Amino acid sequence: MRQIFNFSAGPAVLPEEVLQQAAAEMLDWRGSGQSVMEMSHRGKEYMGIHAQAEADLRELMGIPSNYKVLFLQGGATMQFAAIPMNLLRGKASADYVHTGEWSKKAIKEAKLFGKVNIAASAEDRNFTYVPARSTWKLDPQAAYVHVCMNETIGGVEFNWEPETGEVPLVADVSSTFLSRPVDVSKYGLIYGGAQKNIGPAGLTIVIVREDLIGHAPSGTPTMLDFKQQADNDSMLNTPPTYSIYIAGLVFQWLKRQGGIAAIEKRNIEKSSLLYDYLDATGFYANPVDKADRSRMNVPFTLKDAALDDDFLAGAKARNLLQLKGHRSVGGMRASIYNAMPIEGVRALVDYMRDFEKQRG
Ligand SMILES: *Cc1c(COP(=O)(O)O)cnc(C)c1O
Repeated sequence: MRQIFNFSAGPAVLPEEVLQQAAAEMLDWRGSGQSVMEMSHRGKEYMGIHAQAEADLRELMGIPSNYKVLFLQGGATMQFAAIPMNLLRGKASADYVHTGEWSKKAIKEAKLFGKVNIAASAEDRNFTYVPARSTWKLDPQAAYVHVCMNETIGGVEFNWEPETGEVPLVADVSSTFLSRPVDVSKYGLIYGGAQKNIGPAGLTIVIVREDLIGHAPSGTPTMLDFKQQADNDSMLNTPPTYSIYIAGLVFQWLKRQGGIAAIEKRNIEKSSLLYDYLDATGFYANPVDKADRSRMNVPFTLKDAALDDDFLAGAKARNLLQLKGHRSVGGMRASIYNAMPIEGVRALVDYMRDFEKQRG
């Protein structure tokens, strides 16, 4: 057992079993004599790893056969541009729901390619909630509707799946990937970077409905064209092979845990433990509407910000790491992704209670 609990927002904690397996296979992957890092991406060993990772992801998420799974690079941030490039399909505008920092970045980038209509925004209350679907002003002519399913910085999560009728729904799931069941058929495109809930940095996953690709305008760089990536099994060039291998080990670990429904139950249990404590004390606070709180990223503040440094130092002394909040909001943030054991959340709550007793 490792001695620390890592609450980093990303890159983030990975299952210990996966790290141990990767360590055991580091020098010689299953009798091949090579590390996965050293394998040709066109060789049969690596091709097998790649295909298995895709098959396991499809099984875990129940991805229908008319969706492509792409293993790309450039992070979710690259997708902020690639999505309008591929999905505008000659239409004038796209609808965006603005729920915080990551939505804001997606909106800014989309404006390079077309008109952006802000269908709803939570700015009026400092991005502490998800605007109700009934308040959205959707344009039936929009190319797509973009949402960020979990605002990693603000700790605001969609605890429901939006309906957008005929207009394709596009979802950034970077920090909620595989943490709860998703009905893929409700979405035109789902995307996210791997380094929050799936594996190492360097891998970005895009799941896209087939009819939405193949419409990128001429002049679109080959690497950013979903159709070309799909037609080449994400191997137009060298894919991030080692990141895909680790993601594949995480998918198998998730299957051993009982799949997404089982992991969701644990995520509810872990996040409730922390929120119940936050709500029971006046010493700490979380600003997000209860119904919209994130199960993955829990920001909180101390009553007196002058105690922040002492809180962090004390946490570190108890092997509770990376609790400092995002620089844009301050305070604390505990990211409790799939791979965070419940013991980690218990240790955090115990520490918070002790700190309050001493300093409150
Ligand atoms: C981290 C994050 C991003 C940016 O991801 P990169 O892979 O670093 O580009 C985008 N959206 C959300 C919701 C995130 O949490």
